[in-house]
Amino acid sequence: MTAHIHIHRDGDVALIRLENPPVNGLGFELRQGLDEALHAAEADTSVRAVVIYGGGKMFCGGADIRQFNTPKAGAEPTLRSLATRLAASTKPVVAAIHGMALGGGLELALACHYRVATKVSQLGLPEVKLGLLPGGGGTQRLPRLVGAVQALRMIVTGEPVGAEAGLTCGLLDAVVDGELLAQATAFARDKAGAALPLVSRMVARNDGAATLFDDERVRLRQAKPGFTAPQECINCVEQAMVLDFEAGLDYERERFGVLVQGPESKALRHLFFAEREAAKLDDLPAGTQPRPIHHVGVIGAGTMGVGIAMSLANAGLRVTLLEMRQAALDRGLGMIRDNYAATAAKGKLSAAELERRVGLIQGTLSYDALSDVDLVIEAVFEEMSVKHEVFERLDRVCKPGAILATNTSRLDIDQIAAVVSRPQDVIGLHFFSPANMMRLLEVVRGAKSAPDVIMTAMRLGQQIKKLPVLVGNCDGFVGNRMVLPQAIEAEFLLEEGATPEQVDAALKDCGMAMGRFAVADLAGLDIGWTIRKRMAETRKPGTRSSRILERVCALGRFGQKTGAGFYRYEAGSRTPLPDPVVHGLIDECSLAAGIPRREISDAEIVERNVYALVNEGARLLAEGIARRASDIDLIYVNGYGFPPFRGGPMFYADTVGLDKVYARIREFHQEHGDQWEPAPLLAQLAASGGRFQDLGDSQASTQ
Ligand code: NAD
Repeated sequence: MTAHIHIHRDGDVALIRLENPPVNGLGFELRQGLDEALHAAEADTSVRAVVIYGGGKMFCGGADIRQFNTPKAGAEPTLRSLATRLAASTKPVVAAIHGMALGGGLELALACHYRVATKVSQLGLPEVKLGLLPGGGGTQRLPRLVGAVQALRMIVTGEPVGAEAGLTCGLLDAVVDGELLAQATAFARDKAGAALPLVSRMVARNDGAATLFDDERVRLRQAKPGFTAPQECINCVEQAMVLDFEAGLDYERERFGVLVQGPESKALRHLFFAEREAAKLDDLPAGTQPRPIHHVGVIGAGTMGVGIAMSLANAGLRVTLLEMRQAALDRGLGMIRDNYAATAAKGKLSAAELERRVGLIQGTLSYDALSDVDLVIEAVFEEMSVKHEVFERLDRVCKPGAILATNTSRLDIDQIAAVVSRPQDVIGLHFFSPANMMRLLEVVRGAKSAPDVIMTAMRLGQQIKKLPVLVGNCDGFVGNRMVLPQAIEAEFLLEEGATPEQVDAALKDCGMAMGRFAVADLAGLDIGWTIRKRMAETRKPGTRSSRILERVCALGRFGQKTGAGFYRYEAGSRTPLPDPVVHGLIDECSLAAGIPRREISDAEIVERNVYALVNEGARLLAEGIARRASDIDLIYVNGYGFPPFRGGPMFYADTVGLDKVYARIREFHQEHGDQWEPAPLLAQLAASGGRFQDLGDSQASTQ
């Protein structure tokens, strides 16, 4: 018997426990052990029924990700062979599910004769989230058990269902309160000798509209443009309606094979592992412990302060929100209540929970209310003098050991820290807008940020269900520093012959959540204009620059908030509409700069936008501002709408091949100017056949 399986007996019932912490992943050894245990139970005449259950906190979380991409992943016995053995069993086999049964774990349970779960169990097939489909028979068994509508819902969204829903739809045979194992054992014993239900012999039925599958295909093409796995999931469930069981399994296997080798799944798995990597803090001294955080101060109840306060309250933290004036405070607190009320109106928040969260956020005009906070997050105007004034006051009132964080988008963390007596307690917590919705959190370490302050910030990010990524301090940190050369390049494209709508359409076709100019209009053009004015002061003579943004802003067009920017907007609408005024203005800029307008292909638009990111990303890696290429990918996918199925800009560049990317950047350098000077790290990797994803942590910065 292997170490991953434990067998014991309760009278005439054999109890097989899955033992592969932390999630009982279906690794090769566990599958082999289970196969042997089932074989032994079948051969043992004193056994009349079998119960399979999970040790630890759950039944089974699915494939063992540690064996992803290793020969063990596909080695016999596979899940399909195990299912065949289960189907051949003459004795009832019951899956006793506590905690979660996910992916292969649920597929294993589906292959058993019966499924019994606790009230709090969760059952799901999340493979689609990794660009895959359930390849262990899930797409064929689930619709046979629960019908096409529910099967599609579970397989295509990847979202789990609870035990009650599982019972209602027929996925579960019983839901128990109390001792699961004893009740599942009694259930199994009760079924001994009875005719055994086999899912494989059931008929899959379309219990929805005749057009169910086509409707779903159309819906998902709109909801998840560019993703292929959801479409393949639909195809598999549809095939379950027409093919016999074995042929359906073959179809599922074949499509799984295509997806697992394809770029989408590789990209999504890259992002999955990237999140795990981003959480690692190996470079902090051993033994570093986070500081306890119970009460948080937020300074400024504007756009960001409101969202940050909500994120904290959502995780049950007590918040004191400070403003300069009562009216601003009232407006902020009102926005918080309105936001929660909107969620409650959608049925996603109970009235009691709404009150609890609102009650966790106390408003104040007095810094004295911050004397006992464990952490304070400043979100006031983006002006160094204002930040200094706030930090000086915080330094006076906050208790020793309180962490002083700033939500600045691009100001120098060290310069902010310079005005306090405790720079080791200062750190950047760069939330993204809207802060209560966006997952990304750049944790910006200053030169003097203490290890335990960094660790606390990262842990807090996780606690409030964000995706914290640790980055270094520079103008714009990782995300906003990379976006600048891209934004400038997009304007050069306008100057050379493109329109805002052409650039945006090309980027959206490539999978970006929004086009560059639609995003700029949403964020507000005045911010970018201020940055450009600052850049102009230090720009090397002869460096190319465009006046388009300045000209648009000079018309008082600051984006959506003024009803016009690169696009025009009808009153009350957020839909960007092409504007002849902007077209005329762009033409004038081309003429004034002596640039003949030409046809620009969508491919060139995408290359120049994405490679501008990649080139700056390579510099950030070399400077050690980004710890690893996958951190940059996480930032771009989660904060800037980069398509997840392309894995982020650095992964995408690896996929294209860094030699090809480098060659294109050199061409751009010759044709379009010094902003395209290739990053030395990119040049090195291109020459050596390397990839960003193979650079070890901080290896890039020492090359
Ligand atoms: P905002 O103008 O909406 O809100 C700022 C608030 O701070 C205002 O309500 C103002 O009354 C208050 N305030 C100003 N000085 C104060 C002081 N001395 N004490 C107390 N309150 C004060 O601005 P915002 O968009 O929320 O941005 C706040 C910070 O977050 C800035 O540093 C900005 O760069 C950063 N940020 C903004 C975004 C974004 O998309 N808006 C995203 C990330 C980071």
